[in-house]
Amino acid sequence: MTSTGRGPPHRASPSLSAPGGRGRRSRESVRVRMAADYYDKLGLKRNATKKEIKSAYRKLARKYHPDVSKAPDAEAKFKDISNAYEVLSDEEKKQIYDRYGEAGLKGSPFGPGGAGASDFSNPFDIFESFFGMGGGMGGGMGGMGGAAGSMRDRPQQGEDIVVRVRLSFLEAVFGCEQEVATTRRETCSSCSGSGIQEGTRPTTCSQCGGSGQVISAVRTPIGTFQQSVPCNACGGTGRIFTPCSTCTGSGRNTKNKTLSVRFPAGVDNGSRLRVRGEGNSGRKGGRTGDLYVEVEVERDAELARDGENIKSNVTVGCTDAILGTSVKIRTVDGSVELKIPAGTQPGTTLLMSKRGVPRLGNPNLRGDHLVKVNVKIPQKLTPEERKKFEELREISSQEVKA
Ligand code: ZN
Repeated sequence: MTSTGRGPPHRASPSLSAPGGRGRRSRESVRVRMAADYYDKLGLKRNATKKEIKSAYRKLARKYHPDVSKAPDAEAKFKDISNAYEVLSDEEKKQIYDRYGEAGLKGSPFGPGGAGASDFSNPFDIFESFFGMGGGMGGGMGGMGGAAGSMRDRPQQGEDIVVRVRLSFLEAVFGCEQEVATTRRETCSSCSGSGIQEGTRPTTCSQCGGSGQVISAVRTPIGTFQQSVPCNACGGTGRIFTPCSTCTGSGRNTKNKTLSVRFPAGVDNGSRLRVRGEGNSGRKGGRTGDLYVEVEVERDAELARDGENIKSNVTVGCTDAILGTSVKIRTVDGSVELKIPAGTQPGTTLLMSKRGVPRLGNPNLRGDHLVKVNVKIPQKLTPEERKKFEELREISSQEVKA
């Protein structure tokens, strides 16, 4: 995840169907997924440009990366996207696919050989080479056989994580300290993050001699190709090892941790606080990611927030508006007396200086509290009131004549 602030109050959970997809996303469809169109999988039209293919993959791969997505079939989806991208991003494979469809790739060095998707490259390798190794998201190895290849021997930074926290109106105004529950992935203590079972040692794969690649020549409708493909025996990693029984080879375990977080005065809906080093653990000595705490502020029945200012309404009777009065106003500092000057017009806004929200980062500066005055005209009058108002009218009209 990236660190830029952005705050819709509800984070949509990842949708299970890709834009432009056909919604066949059940377990069953995973088995027959080879029949689905690669363009559809990336939400693309047939005439998509290289740039569009890249950008579609970038978007979807980030969304469905199993380290990020909570969707139960995120991993299957992630593989699908990677497989589609692998074909469409490769000029040769794309040509075969465009001309002959799936059948053209079957039995070719590029295709799944009719036996399923296992001959595709590791989707995490595609992901990592696409985004670069230093990126915010490391390769998740969960469920991928738990191998650590040469690409993975370099340090990888842990992913950032995001947690949403709800604060009351006043907590946000004046700041507070709150316990924040996080779920993050920490380096496995059994294997120190290597993913290798303690007491065992990895061996070089005898099939590929440690390179992770094997050369195969396969005939296709448009000729014979010599192509290096990932080694089946080691999954392209060049090493064979016993996965750690604690983390099943991923090198990290999911842990819950509660942190006490200090929210400064002036935070608002959508504010994001960064807590360094409380994200997911890195790999191979990479630095730990950060925790981002996203703030959601509860509404108040009377007080509304407008940046650093507070807004509220007050209603006074017409004689009070005419003659002036003093009313109690609920502010963030409690009840405060506000003078309504004589002759206050309906809809007038009165300002209570420095009764607003402290400025984020500089709490000595405060906004104002703006009070809009509504004037209530009586709908019914007692006989006595009526008499007085009529006298008033008499006086007013004499004034006008004079
Ligand atoms: Zn482990």
